[in-house]
Amino acid sequence: MEKISNLLTIVGILMTSPAQATSLHEAISNNDLNAFKNIISSEKKESLLELRDEIGRTPLLLSTQLNRIEMARILIKNGADVNARDAKQDTPYLFAGAEGRNEILLMTLEHGADLKSTNRYGGTALIPAAEKGHLETVKILLKTKINVNHINRLGWTALLEAIILSDGGKTHQDIIRELIKGGADISIPDKDGVSPLQHAQKRNHNEIVELLKNAGAKKMEHTNSDQSFLEQAIELAIENKAKSGRPFGAIIVKDNKVIASGVNNMLATFDPSSHAELEAIRKATASIRGMDLTGYKIYASAQPCPMCLAAIAMTNISEIIYAFDNNDAAPFNYSSKNLYDKLRISEITFIKMSEVQTKYSAVEVYNDSVK
Ligand SMILES: [Zn+2]
Repeated sequence: MEKISNLLTIVGILMTSPAQATSLHEAISNNDLNAFKNIISSEKKESLLELRDEIGRTPLLLSTQLNRIEMARILIKNGADVNARDAKQDTPYLFAGAEGRNEILLMTLEHGADLKSTNRYGGTALIPAAEKGHLETVKILLKTKINVNHINRLGWTALLEAIILSDGGKTHQDIIRELIKGGADISIPDKDGVSPLQHAQKRNHNEIVELLKNAGAKKMEHTNSDQSFLEQAIELAIENKAKSGRPFGAIIVKDNKVIASGVNNMLATFDPSSHAELEAIRKATASIRGMDLTGYKIYASAQPCPMCLAAIAMTNISEIIYAFDNNDAAPFNYSSKNLYDKLRISEITFIKMSEVQTKYSAVEVYNDSVK
């Protein structure tokens, strides 16, 4: 199957460029090694190396596309540029990587392949190699300093492409195993915040789901939309701080839609119940004209205090996700631990509650705030 598709690629390449720019290109197209060697041993070989055909390909890029290994070897040995681009932004290195031309790929790596270079989709060589199922190529590239977590213009890493654009079969499972071993960050989502695990689950790629979970995706049952909602709550806290309010924000979400948000208004209103979570709850219950928030999630910049926790319990909110706990808050005098102790609240079992990391730090949010 692979052979047939290689053959089709070759036929395609030959058909799209009937007239070759130079005799060297012609010898490569015809797979005429003798003619090739004659030309390359001529005195003006250096000026031949970077000559382009009508679509901008150097002799080395054409050799790579046609998998003329010996010719590529000779060209590289004579100094051909492994990073020279054609009109489609391909280079010998990028093409060899994308199409699994491993012998040529190895030679380009030994001769200055630019690991940071990207194709017309903004992807490194690793991304198409992973997507197209070139396991050996992926292994070769992972031994280099290539950025395994590079994101292309579609918003995808190599890991995401190997999940989204594959059939989830054995080869891609192996590739995903290699990528994880090579440092792929399994938490990087696509542009819509959908995580690799969610993509694998959606496609019923069960083996890949297992691989991701074993690699720690379990710890992050929290999807990236959780993280981005939480960051929205933190951004409210930061904005509130800028307006001389206390640095707390909360949002309430149902079915991935923000239903209500709130910030701490205590300083402006002298209302001790004006905590961010309570303000958000007030708006949410008003908006549904009811008291029951079953199935709603609350995202709070900080671990809720006992008062807010009681309100959350009373309205049946189903889950609490917060960013900073009382330990984070203590250095800034924002901890509610004393209140927890005073009320003898120790273990909270009635609700699913978790602390999730975001791009914000407690210091960033709490520093320089008005008490
Ligand atoms: Zn509170």
